[in-house]
Amino acid sequence: MAKRPEVLRADWLLPAPNRAAIRHGAILVRDGRIAASGPAASVEIPEGAAVTELGAAVLMPGLINAHQHGRGISQIMMGYPDMPLEPWIAGRRRHGPPDIGAVTRLAAEAMIANGVTATLHANYTYGTGDYGQELRDQIAAYRTAGLRATICVGLQDRGALIYPDADESAFAARLPKAAQALIARPASAPYMPDWKSSVSFMDRVQAEVTGDPLIRLAWGPAGPQWVSDTLWSQVAADARARNVGLHFHLLESPAQAASARRLYPEGTLARLRRLGVFNAATSCAHGVHMSPADMAIAAAEGLVVVLNPGSNLRLFNGPPPVAALRAAGVLLAAGTDNCAASDDEDYLAELWLATLLGRAEGAMNTAGQDAAMAFAIATTGGAAAAFLPEDHGVIAPGAPADVAAFRLMGCDSRQSSDPHRIAEMLFSRGRGRDCVLTMIAGQIRFAARPEDAVRLQQAHDRALASVRARANAASATGVAAFQAALRAHYAGRGDG
Ligand SMILES: [Zn+2]
Repeated sequence: MAKRPEVLRADWLLPAPNRAAIRHGAILVRDGRIAASGPAASVEIPEGAAVTELGAAVLMPGLINAHQHGRGISQIMMGYPDMPLEPWIAGRRRHGPPDIGAVTRLAAEAMIANGVTATLHANYTYGTGDYGQELRDQIAAYRTAGLRATICVGLQDRGALIYPDADESAFAARLPKAAQALIARPASAPYMPDWKSSVSFMDRVQAEVTGDPLIRLAWGPAGPQWVSDTLWSQVAADARARNVGLHFHLLESPAQAASARRLYPEGTLARLRRLGVFNAATSCAHGVHMSPADMAIAAAEGLVVVLNPGSNLRLFNGPPPVAALRAAGVLLAAGTDNCAASDDEDYLAELWLATLLGRAEGAMNTAGQDAAMAFAIATTGGAAAAFLPEDHGVIAPGAPADVAAFRLMGCDSRQSSDPHRIAEMLFSRGRGRDCVLTMIAGQIRFAARPEDAVRLQQAHDRALASVRARANAASATGVAAFQAALRAHYAGRGDG
C-alpha cells in the first residue's frame, strides 16, 4: 500500500553543504524519497498529502554518525571509566555481556532523537563466542528502530591488547598470577574463526538483509595491528568483488602508532596501498597518529577519515589532526564512537568539537568555511564513510528522504539571508536536544512527541536493566592487575 505523500515546511531549508539556505523551504516526500524541494511556494502539495509545518526550524539532510559500535549505555555507566585505550578495553573483561539487542536498540533510538538518520556500525564483539548471533541481534535492533545502518562484519587474525603480537608471549610471562586468565580472552580470532568462515558468514548475512532498504553490510577489519598482510589482501579483493566497503580503526593510540612503526616501517597506509586495500571503497576511524605521508595517501586514494574527537581526548590518545587532514585534502566524516565528549549521542556537539580542532594555530577559517566543513562532515562525508550511494547526504529530488529538523533560538524567518548565517548558527550553537524531527526513508521516526520520549525511556530502561544484570566474568583484582601490567608495558613506547 502506497503511503500518502508528505510535505515538510520550515523557516529554513539547508539542502546541501555547497548550496545556499532557502528561506521558507519545503520538501515533498513520496515513497521514501524526496520528490521535490525548494522554496515552499514552488513545492506543490498533492491531494491528500500530510503537511507538517515545522515553523521556526532548520530542515536539513539527516546527520550521519559514521563510526560507532551500538553501545547505547555509555562505558562510564557500564563501569569502565576513562583511561588509555588498551587498559580501557581490558577493563571490559570484568563483565559478561549485557542484552546486546537492547543496548544496540538504545544507541539507535538515541541517535535518531539527536537527528541522526544513518550510521556506520563498526566492528565490535562482546566476546560471547557466538559472533554471528551478536551481529544478528545488532542488525535486528537497527531494523526495529528504523535507523539506516551500514553494518561491519568484523575481521581480526592477530594480536589483541599487545601489539605487535610478537611481544605477547613475553608480556604474558611477566603477568601477575591474578591476571593470567585475562590475557587469552577474547582469543585472537574474536569474530569468525578464519577467513573462509568469515566469507560464508558474510554470504549468509547478505542474503538475510537483501531487500531491506535500511541495512547494508561492509567489511570491518579491526585495524592494522590486528590484521595480517594476507588477510588485508583477501578482504580487499573480496570487498571489491562484492562491491562493499571496508572500514577499519587506524592509528588510534600512541601504542598503536609505536606498533605500526615496527610492523610497517614504510608507513602504515603505504603498506595497505601495496596490499590493494584501496582498490575497495574505504573509510577509517580516528587517524590520530597519521603521518603527513599517510595523509597524502588518504587524500590520493579517497580514504575517508572519520573523526572521533571526544573519544580520542577521553582515552588519552590526543586530538585528531583535523587541521592537517583538512589541509591535506582528506575527505572527513565524524562519529561519536559511543564515547563522545558529552558522553551521549549528541552528534552536533561532537561535530562542533571536531570543527574547533580544525582551527590551526595562526590560521583563520571564516565562519562560512567552518560551517561548510561541518555540514559536509555531517552529511556527504558521512555518506561516503558509510558507503551509502551518492544521492545520500543531500536534499534533492530523487534523494532518499533522510532529513532532520532543528529548532534553535534565532533560526527563524526573520534571520538575515546571509548564505552562511543559518549554517553557522546551527553548527556552532545547535545541539541534539534541538532536534524536532527525524525522518528516515520517508518515515517520521522522531518528532519530539510524548510517545518519542516514552520510547526512548523504555529503550533506556531495558538496556540499563540488562547491564545491571551482567554476570561478573573476572575478579576486580585480576582486571586491575592486568590493566596495570598493560600500562607498564606501554609506558614510554608511545614516542619512540
Ligand atoms: Zn571505535
